[in-house]
Amino acid sequence: MIPYGHQLIGEDDIDAVVQVLRSDFLTQGPAVPRFEEALARYCGAPHAVATCNATAALHLACLALGLGPGDRLWTSPITFVASANCGRYCGAEVDFVDIDPNTWTLCPQALERKLVEAERDGRLPKIVVAVHLCGHSCDLRAIHALSARYGFRIIEDASHAIGARYLGEPVGCCRYSDITVFSFHPVKIITTGEGGMALTRDAALAERMARLRSHGITRDPARMSGPPDGPWYYEQTELGFNYRMTELQAALGTSQLKHLDAWVAQRNALAHRYAAALDGLPLTIQQVTPDCRSAYHLFVIRLLQGRGARPRREVFEALRASGIGVNVHYIPLYHQPGYRNPGAAGRCPEAERYYAGAITLPLFPALGEADQDHVVQALRGSLQPPGTSS
Ligand SMILES: *Cc1c(COP(=O)(O)O)cnc(C)c1O
Repeated sequence: MIPYGHQLIGEDDIDAVVQVLRSDFLTQGPAVPRFEEALARYCGAPHAVATCNATAALHLACLALGLGPGDRLWTSPITFVASANCGRYCGAEVDFVDIDPNTWTLCPQALERKLVEAERDGRLPKIVVAVHLCGHSCDLRAIHALSARYGFRIIEDASHAIGARYLGEPVGCCRYSDITVFSFHPVKIITTGEGGMALTRDAALAERMARLRSHGITRDPARMSGPPDGPWYYEQTELGFNYRMTELQAALGTSQLKHLDAWVAQRNALAHRYAAALDGLPLTIQQVTPDCRSAYHLFVIRLLQGRGARPRREVFEALRASGIGVNVHYIPLYHQPGYRNPGAAGRCPEAERYYAGAITLPLFPALGEADQDHVVQALRGSLQPPGTSS
């Protein structure tokens, strides 16, 4: 089975991790700050907070921005559950904004329409989580302009988009957002096994996330409620979560980061090869706008549905039967029991249209051209009605 994604681990990565195993620190040593500094420098954001995974980073980002019960968090319905779960962890209400029909990312026009209604009803969101689906940045400048008018904060869920660029700058620079979150799950672009990072330009947000990432404990007498008992004394000033990244993970991350640009270039080359090979078939692919360089975490095709078209399910099953580990990213989040609320179905018509035809094809830097050709050939075959041949 050709998987839809796969990590790439070299001898340099293995050496970097082994070096940590032989050192004094497996956690809370120098490797985590080194990884944070390297990624902050790469992205052009001054502050970075490494975490045990991106889900934890999204939670910390929401907490740092003060999200709580009675507040609202909005995001795209076409994303992984974690983009929305962070709102529920904080007791906030989660709602969804429809996607753009071409880029499949959160649609600024749909957002504006929803904001106008929400302002009228006194139900404006506190946070909008902008998800860079498949590695393609949202139209952040437009979303940012709306945030100035309606007073919400922006978290970029860039779990798919490390190494991507938007308006000539790296995704993660936080020019149009408060906090950007990356994931280093093995299926993502670079990996630490499990791992995440939150970047920001705001020193106070970074400091708050760093405190909550540990146990919310301080040794600084100025922050304590009273005088310390002695030099050993610490005080828990907030409820922290122990969301720390280990030294082993960070060493792997720093080592992987060295390959990032080459891997994103390889992903772009393979994506362009797919685009050329699929031209003319009854499907659409994600439109990459001129202001973006996608990191191509995922390569999704959207089968055109209609008369004579083979249903997505049949195409999916035929591809799986041909040894191709296709997947679907994603099921509209409001289909999930935890997010199912009355009137939700059909509330985001573009998301529904997208979901009806979406299939994720294999894409990862080590995917060979022969394997890619096999995927294309199997797809062409699977689009033919059974019993016919091309
Ligand atoms: C993978 C992913 C996450 C969660 O990442 P973890 O590091 O596994 O917690 C969040 N959002 C999106 C869009 C993702 O793809």
